[in-house]
Amino acid sequence: MNAFIGPAADCRLCPRLVQFRQANQAAFPAWHNRPVESFGPLDARILFVGLAPGLRGANCTGRPFTGDYAGELLYSSLLHFGLAVGTYGARADDGLCLKDARICNAVRCVPPENKPSPAEFKNCQPFLASEIAAMPNLRALFAIGRNAHDVTLTTLGRKKSAHPFVHGALHRLTEDLILVDSYHCSRYNTNTGRLTTEMFHAAFRTMLEALNN
Ligand code: SF4
Repeated sequence: MNAFIGPAADCRLCPRLVQFRQANQAAFPAWHNRPVESFGPLDARILFVGLAPGLRGANCTGRPFTGDYAGELLYSSLLHFGLAVGTYGARADDGLCLKDARICNAVRCVPPENKPSPAEFKNCQPFLASEIAAMPNLRALFAIGRNAHDVTLTTLGRKKSAHPFVHGALHRLTEDLILVDSYHCSRYNTNTGRLTTEMFHAAFRTMLEALNN
């Protein structure tokens, strides 16, 4: 098995994000303000892939999807389907544990306005590749949003044209590895009705049924 090689705590591969990070360190010294480490065991079967830390979410708390609205739907769904135990408290020290699941972000530093540039996606991609290679039991990737879907396919050397993003779609990448798509569980998407809890849960069910068959 390959060892997971994540970014250094002071990774400087993306100058714009480093500058933003430093500005946040000055403005909010109590916040995490560094690359956000993935959460969950490396021997999990499922890897949830998000876009990037939210400014006041993971960038503040230091745990993916923790502290902002997106985490409320994601963690409540993980708890609902038995992929987490404990209580989600919107803090990295809430004691919640993931079971058979791990959560990462395609871009590990917070980008201004939640929008990484193509170069920033590319700079951070080796860490996702390393993470995937370091998960010996990986059977399912769950893309949280179109950007995560695209980066995951690129990381695995797959053509996007062969696997178009569709909410709830299941893509069989190899005999042993699937990719399931979901709209991002952001407040914007849930407020506008683009993503409902039922739709999010349906994507979970699609993945879990494929895993358990
Ligand atoms: Fe490094 Fe990734 Fe942060 Fe860019 S986004 S500085 S590659 S950890």
